[in-house]
Amino acid sequence: MRVEVVTIGDELLLGYTLDSNAAHLARELAGAGVEIVRRSTVGDGPEDIAVAVREALERTGAVITTGGLGPTSDDLTKPSIAAIFGRKMRLDETILAALKARWAKRFPGEFPQSNAQQAMIPEGARILANNHGSAPGIWLEDDRGRWVAMLPGVPREMRGMLADTLLPLVLERAAARGGEPHVVRSRTLRTTGIGESALADMLGEAARLPGGLPLAYLPGWEGTDLRLTARGMPAAGADAALDRAASILREKIGKWVYGEDTADLAATVLDACRARGLTIAVAESCTGGMLGARLTAIAGSSDVVLGGVIAYANQVKVAMLGVRQGTLDTHGAVSEETVREMASGARQRLGSSVAVAITGIAGPGGGTPDKPVGTIWLAVDVDGHVTAKRIQTIGDRDENRRRAAQGALALTLRALGAGA
Ligand code: AMP
Ligand code: MG
Repeated sequence: MRVEVVTIGDELLLGYTLDSNAAHLARELAGAGVEIVRRSTVGDGPEDIAVAVREALERTGAVITTGGLGPTSDDLTKPSIAAIFGRKMRLDETILAALKARWAKRFPGEFPQSNAQQAMIPEGARILANNHGSAPGIWLEDDRGRWVAMLPGVPREMRGMLADTLLPLVLERAAARGGEPHVVRSRTLRTTGIGESALADMLGEAARLPGGLPLAYLPGWEGTDLRLTARGMPAAGADAALDRAASILREKIGKWVYGEDTADLAATVLDACRARGLTIAVAESCTGGMLGARLTAIAGSSDVVLGGVIAYANQVKVAMLGVRQGTLDTHGAVSEETVREMASGARQRLGSSVAVAITGIAGPGGGTPDKPVGTIWLAVDVDGHVTAKRIQTIGDRDENRRRAAQGALALTLRALGAGA
């Protein structure tokens, strides 16, 4: 089945809001065998909405919109599209009652009259329940079976409505046409600590995958993701092709892979610690708590993470971590000697089995010829055995700091003998 997506909102055109709805819809629908053949974005003007949806409808007969269902004057999606179908708007008393009940349960004071607009529904519409917010979605269909589904703009509500209500409905339509749907499925192998060209060299001929499965190299601050995509097959065949391709890649570069798809290196490190009964502490200079934030962002981290020290100034490195003044004077704050003492000091003073330390020059100032911006020293102390490593990051301040935290996690995983 071929579908077009129209995302609606001035903020999308002006670039203040990234169109994450279109990306989410594309991924979810492709995975279910529904192909999005064109995406367009229009502002909040009713004429622009009507033109975009009418044209999309003429091409595919199946259109999904997001945005403009709210209670304010810029929310004009419903009447614009109702007019294409020649339908009038009318007040749905059941929806109005539900909106009022929802309001009374959550907020003090009167129900705002503007909210009643969310209960204005085109004649003959099917309501798509919103379990995550107030504005209901709308499904409008003509007697030739051409349809438009209108979803809210708020991403969380849109995702919920897609999964709960719209996707089953679309799949029902697709199934009615017969044949097993062809899907687009992807699998991502996440690597870190190695560049894309080094990965390509290691893979060599293995990068030519059976069935011509395409392989994309996606470098970023977390590392290089390798994404496999299978298309033009039923779901079971696509999954089998991805399994086969992933194991071919893992045979060559498995030691750099820390997980698949949405895997997070911090979670992988916590799992490795947990499996070995280890606790962890951090000592951070240039990252100022980012590493601690990465680790504690993972639900359930409290059984592994003890805490940490943000040792930004030298005096804190000395007072809180026991780094020797002589080490700082001789080698500087960004040095192997200092980072090793930070790691050992953190492990001893916080009483953890593992401690991870970071010191570096995040920039944009502070670089020297032998320690340019992006010079980062990392160390891991595992039960008194310290490993240190220098990395050179390239980027702005934010990226240098994020790469430093990611590098520290990668070093930790390796020090634990857990790959990547
Ligand atoms: P609306 O339903 O048009 O009132 O949109 C409500 C909120 O959802 C807006 O403030 C936007 O921040 C957000 N939003 C709308 N459309 C999108 C989109 N396509 N992608 C991401 N966020 C969106
Ligand atoms: Mg809007």
